[in-house]
Amino acid sequence: MRMDELKKTDPEIYEAIVKEFEREKDKLVLIASENYSSPAVLQAQGSIFTNKYAEGYPDNRYYGGCEYADMVENLAIERAKKLFGAEHVNVQPHSGTQANMAVYMSMLRPGDKILGMNLSHGGHLSHGAQVNFSGLLYKAYYYGVDRKTGLIDYDRVRRLAKRHRPRLIIAGASAYSRIIDFKLLSEIAKEVNAYFLADIAHIAGLIATGLHPSPIPYADFVTSTTHKTLRGPRGGLIMCKAEYAKAIDRMIFPGIQGGPLVHVIAAKAVAFKEALSERFKRYQLQVVKNAKELAEALMERGFKIVSGGTDTHLMLVDLTNKKITGREAESMLDMAGITVNKNSVPYDRRPPAITSGIRIGTPIVTTRRMKEPEMVMIADFISAILNNIRNIEVINKIKDRVKSLCRRFPFYEELEG
Ligand SMILES: *Cc1c(COP(=O)(O)O)cnc(C)c1O
Repeated sequence: MRMDELKKTDPEIYEAIVKEFEREKDKLVLIASENYSSPAVLQAQGSIFTNKYAEGYPDNRYYGGCEYADMVENLAIERAKKLFGAEHVNVQPHSGTQANMAVYMSMLRPGDKILGMNLSHGGHLSHGAQVNFSGLLYKAYYYGVDRKTGLIDYDRVRRLAKRHRPRLIIAGASAYSRIIDFKLLSEIAKEVNAYFLADIAHIAGLIATGLHPSPIPYADFVTSTTHKTLRGPRGGLIMCKAEYAKAIDRMIFPGIQGGPLVHVIAAKAVAFKEALSERFKRYQLQVVKNAKELAEALMERGFKIVSGGTDTHLMLVDLTNKKITGREAESMLDMAGITVNKNSVPYDRRPPAITSGIRIGTPIVTTRRMKEPEMVMIADFISAILNNIRNIEVINKIKDRVKSLCRRFPFYEELEG
């Protein structure tokens, strides 16, 4: 990477970046919520737009000199509208959580009831978890998955909605591998006169390419991150019906944020452009194919996958039949250069710091152009390690194989030197 100035000014930070670069290249990263954004995205995000204050919105700013910032934000908005078919888009949220916060604060009052997916069944912190602002500010109720099928229990969603009459129903998850029925959930919301928010943070890339049904026709609000399957810079996004446009824009700024991160918005625009391409469609299709192949291969090797498989980019491995905790599995795999995260499984008896599962995703390995044969290899690696717990010989053998697999699928070569 060309970082000569940084190397001179701050060798410590330079060193950390170089090390991170090597980690991302040499490890097999299976974190479902991460991706490797393109060099073009990185360049836009690293641009001089970080210097610019642009409080407000295009053609209505609180600072002078925003003509190029306007160009950037307008392009980002236009492209996102095209990509998702949304009526209104706000590209300024700094993160997925802040996108959700803006929706809640524009439509709810503190103490109002919300109904979201249980964190321990695959939901997200910002959907009403007690440790999050969403659980502190609002009265949160939770739905989850059926114990037997591992699928969202939509009848229970309806029963909870009728009993508690929430003002907002939230769909979307961080560790759910199946198609979410946004239409049905929107109907339930209508029945109880609740607003309906679909949080597509994880599956935005699949939705943009038609591989998962879009909530846009049914949801009052759709929030997302831009850095997961969508493969853009770290950030958030809100889409909504035109009638809520003013309320949402006002809540993002001046409500909960100050100046927008114009350099990040520039990178979001680049990512949206990439996502509109045929190449990105092929990429997402392979992400899903790879996840299916990996889930199948793991099941053939005796692993239990929650819900029995996947329709998306991720899967949740239930390790209760393996006599190993999620925390141990994460650390054993890490020793061999395989990065996953421990994750609660539905009805988990272990606490969140230990858990009985791991979450595995294919966005990064697919960005590196790995295909089905490599997924079978990865299943072999995981199986060897988790079936030979604390066997250092096995770990070292797999570590070498992981390294040579990563070398065969280089990435960011263009940034080297
Ligand atoms: C990742 C995620 C978010 C939050 O994104 P941050 O940018 O980390 O705040 C919100 N909702 C869901 C469902 C997520 O998976």
